[in-house]
Amino acid sequence: MKYRSTRGGMTPMPFSDILLEGLAPDGGLAIPESLPRIDAETLASWRGLTYAQLATQILSVFIDDIPHADLNRLTHAAYRADVFGSEAIVPLKPLNHGMQLLGLSEGPTLAFKDMAMQFLGQAFEYVLSKRDACINILGATSGDTGSAAEYALRGKRGVTVFMLSPQGRMSDFQRAQMYTLQDANIHNIALNGVFDECQDIVKALAGDLDFKARYHIGAVNSINWARIAAQVVYYFWGWLRATSQPGQQVSFAVPSGNFGNILAGHIARQMGLPVRRLVLATNENNVLEEFFRTGIYRPRPAAETHATSSPSMDISRASNFERFVFDLLDQDAARVNACWQALARDGYFDLSELKPLFESRYGFVAGVSTHADRLHTIREVQKETGLLVDPHTADGIKVGASFVEEGIPMLVLETALPAKFGETILEATGKPAPLPAHLQNLSQLPQRVAVMDCKLELVRDYIIQHASGTN
Ligand SMILES: *Cc1c(COP(=O)(O)O)cnc(C)c1O
Repeated sequence: MKYRSTRGGMTPMPFSDILLEGLAPDGGLAIPESLPRIDAETLASWRGLTYAQLATQILSVFIDDIPHADLNRLTHAAYRADVFGSEAIVPLKPLNHGMQLLGLSEGPTLAFKDMAMQFLGQAFEYVLSKRDACINILGATSGDTGSAAEYALRGKRGVTVFMLSPQGRMSDFQRAQMYTLQDANIHNIALNGVFDECQDIVKALAGDLDFKARYHIGAVNSINWARIAAQVVYYFWGWLRATSQPGQQVSFAVPSGNFGNILAGHIARQMGLPVRRLVLATNENNVLEEFFRTGIYRPRPAAETHATSSPSMDISRASNFERFVFDLLDQDAARVNACWQALARDGYFDLSELKPLFESRYGFVAGVSTHADRLHTIREVQKETGLLVDPHTADGIKVGASFVEEGIPMLVLETALPAKFGETILEATGKPAPLPAHLQNLSQLPQRVAVMDCKLELVRDYIIQHASGTN
């Protein structure tokens, strides 16, 4: 399988090449040239697989330039019970009202980003060692990507990480998790700005082709296709666990920000997984909900991006959205280009004429959850089921609940554990969220972070000084 760009200007490349790249050279995003359909018989034959075995099956669809036995080794190294807390790796947890939680947050950083990142860490080390190469990973995080990337890449040979984060916009726990890492190959950079500004700097530096080539810059933020591919696995896993009959439908509710998680659901559905609805939940930063309601995509400037109590969704420009628009526009790269030109010129594009397809062809529906909804949902879920959920997952439950249908399981993606967002849990329940034992002294450990103004030159200089493997 080869990969092309949503903007049509990239020579098709194999997986191992796009693994190490950020944006395509034409500014678009890498996507598979075609998707295979998984038939009912194949799906049924996967019912007995462990998570790692299922990951091998699904990832081998996307990765044909790593030998099967090697890929199998990588998935088994990534999805281990001692890393994810149980043999299930992704447990299903019952909720009320026809809903279940898909437990994606049992990994080392207590958020779903670990699901993709743990595989990515293995794949990076594998491909780099085959090529005797090194890479400097440049990323931006609103909290969870950064820590998941750092925990997956710490100490990995050939890899140095530069992670930008918005100063003062993450929870204490998220900060502690990232900044307490003392590994020499991990660099935390806190910028005086919001997430979108951090992401702009990443995009600008990765778009500077000389700089990118000279310093071997790569990406692990949510535009990285390997992450999407690894996330497709848990949609299949969720379906396999929640159903018993071929063709039985389930819906998924997904707390969304950069559109990476739900995009993987869209890919799974395009591959023939019997998914009825993909329910997109946003917080007060509802650019995506607005798109699915109106057909108009109008990203907002940093100044209009609210700092909310589900901070990992405080995103007003969804970096993966272009991959969905590509499908919506019948994979016509010229029309995708026209949309992004309109975006640069007018600040929005209008696909309202395609609105009837959003749900009928692609299963997409959307809703908003606010701070009050979040607190209410956390309390209600705890009262009814005894489960404590994090604020992002609460957004998914709140919006998912309004789309539950008789006889169709609604799987809500648990995107983080409550311990990561203690302040909001305390506000909702009056009690702090319990911390896993191995993280109890995290806040006392020394932190290592470079703080600077939100300026491209400052970040570039820092990378030049600390990059590995340059000549
Ligand atoms: C990253 C993240 C999200 C948003 O996921 P996207 O793939 O960016 O849409 C939601 N909740 C949590 C806890 C996250 O870390």
